[in-house]
Amino acid sequence: VKKKGKNDFLFFSNELDEQLLEKIELESDLRKAIERGELLLHYQPQIRTEDHAMIGIEALVRWEHPTKGLLSPGLFIPIAEETGLIYEMGTWVLREACQQMRRWHDEGGPLIPISVNLSSQQFHQPKLAEYIMAILEQTGLKPEFLELEITESMMMDASLSSSILNQLNEYGIRISLDDFGTGYSSLSYLKMFPIHKVKIDRSFIRDITENNNDRAIVSTIIAMAQHLNMEVIAEGIETKDQLDILTDNSCQKIQGYYFSKPLPALDVEQAFFVPERK
Ligand code: C2E
Ligand code: CA
Ligand code: CA
Ligand code: CA
Repeated sequence: VKKKGKNDFLFFSNELDEQLLEKIELESDLRKAIERGELLLHYQPQIRTEDHAMIGIEALVRWEHPTKGLLSPGLFIPIAEETGLIYEMGTWVLREACQQMRRWHDEGGPLIPISVNLSSQQFHQPKLAEYIMAILEQTGLKPEFLELEITESMMMDASLSSSILNQLNEYGIRISLDDFGTGYSSLSYLKMFPIHKVKIDRSFIRDITENNNDRAIVSTIIAMAQHLNMEVIAEGIETKDQLDILTDNSCQKIQGYYFSKPLPALDVEQAFFVPERK
């Protein structure tokens, strides 16, 4: 028994070493990734349930790693945040997303906003609003076509958050509260801050067909958002049954694999842009 315990420990410790090595390797690769042009964006349509029209689209970052293939943000955003690379990466994401949406608008694509995720470090960076306005000017995208996705945990410092959010709001940039219901949420945020949209987290949608509590929570969030004159969107819809429950609860906007996974820009155009009638 003793021996087995020791081996277990060794095994465990080797595994930790491996994880650490892997992380150090990714970290040094990530430093070069931006300048080498290895980052890219995928886009996930946001759909109006009524007519299945695309009414928005979320940009989600990916990393085309030279040897490991296409990496998802869960693997590298935490490293970017720990190392401070998130600022450079965040700037790249914002510029790329705004540029893409401006190009789509120019090419006669739908006049919809693009949603961009902010990490909490970016959200608290000084002069955030001015710096985002500069990106909008450089790319020629109007502020009302940019929606920033933030989370409840970013707003714990209420006075700081309110000055940031009020400034973004004055510029005409939209704010969406991501992963709603999962953080240390305080409903008072919703009336203190200019928030245009709440995104119901996927964890409430996953079991919604069987779980009455989840269904109650979701229908309450939808009703609350409507009373507060906010838009509401549910994320992570994968099945027709989930869609039907949301529709029954008057949720008008949804995002999820049922309609589309996040796609490269060209695939979005092919699948979701209405062909020009000539
Ligand atoms: P998120 O903002 O909550 O994004 C939703 C995630 O759920 C995305 O994963 C998306 O691909 C996935 N998803 C969408 N629909 C479904 C569905 O029907 N079923 C399931 N199972 N999953 C679905 P992804 O792209 O891997 O992104 C993960 C997280 O990484 C995002 O969560 C966001 O927090 C972060 N992230 C992504 N891009 C960026 C970025 O550019 N900047 C920052 N700061 N964070 C980002
Ligand atoms: Ca998001
Ligand atoms: Ca989310
Ligand atoms: Ca999430």
